[in-house]
Amino acid sequence: MSTDTRSAPGAPSERSNAAYAATWGWRPPLPLQGVPVFVWPPRPREALRYLVSLAFMGSVMVPFALTAALAWFYLQPPLERCAELRADWILYLFARNLGLMLLVAGGLHLFFYTFRRQGTERKFDRRDLERGNRKFFASNQVWDNMLYTCASGVTVWTAYEVLFFWAYANDWLPFYLDPAAHPVWFVLVFLAIPFWASLHFYFIHRLLHWRPLYRIAHAVHHRNDNLGPWSGLSMHPIEHVIYLSSVLIHALFLTHPLHILFHMQWNALGAATSHTGFESITFRGRPVFILGSFHHQLHHRHHDCNYGNPYMPWDRWFGSDHDGTPEAWAEIRRRRHERLRPARA
Ligand SMILES: [Zn+2]
Ligand SMILES: [Zn+2]
Repeated sequence: MSTDTRSAPGAPSERSNAAYAATWGWRPPLPLQGVPVFVWPPRPREALRYLVSLAFMGSVMVPFALTAALAWFYLQPPLERCAELRADWILYLFARNLGLMLLVAGGLHLFFYTFRRQGTERKFDRRDLERGNRKFFASNQVWDNMLYTCASGVTVWTAYEVLFFWAYANDWLPFYLDPAAHPVWFVLVFLAIPFWASLHFYFIHRLLHWRPLYRIAHAVHHRNDNLGPWSGLSMHPIEHVIYLSSVLIHALFLTHPLHILFHMQWNALGAATSHTGFESITFRGRPVFILGSFHHQLHHRHHDCNYGNPYMPWDRWFGSDHDGTPEAWAEIRRRRHERLRPARA
């Protein structure tokens, strides 16, 4: 780092850089690289390689397509039953989604935090999940996060699915995609969902950091400085409604109920996997399933950077990116200092 940067207001000294680095356990190679799909100039070869990689095809598309298929083929009430808003099928969907969440978030929690099967290998933050802190329900981060996830998160998730299946059953949606007639479109919609969700997430997340909305709603999610699988969907109900609303796009395009399930599960179960606090599940030291992103872990630590996720580079385009390096941290602190200066004057 140059002397100039060190002397800038808010820039960390070498000593504070070292102290900062010491708070982290596993960090991926820095600076963080985003997903090479929406980049300029285009890098088609890298983009294609990414789309068939372990990180995307192996850890996003295939597993979430499988859970969506499981839900659709084995755990879905017939559409004609959904024509009327009745408690029986609605509660069935709630129970199914609660079961899926318990399986994914609960399973990851047991694996990483209860039985510590992976120790601290690929764990981002050295600290453990919080106990004895009164900001959490029952002074326990995990119990608190489970309460918000199950009581509010799964309810709002189910409500969006109910809305779509009720509309499908009554033929109210203008478009219905028949996979046999449009097989290519059917596959492309799946591929597009994580990228659309990324775009939606960046903008609603910036909105959630608008001070009044932050105080009312988003502060609940941000009580989690450190993350575990139950932290992902641990949000205020207002944030659940806003965050999960990305699925509404399906009312405007040719789409199939399987896409709705995939989209909702990607947002809900994907929040659990991406907040696990570990980068990946490993086997003999090698990642076999990619879970979390250091990019979002940094957002939970610093709050005013990395509003998006790595699928689209909105933070780079809007100057809010923290690529994990001490230089980026210095820049964030400099901007924070500048933002606060007029208020202090
Ligand atoms: Zn988060
Ligand atoms: Zn935030």
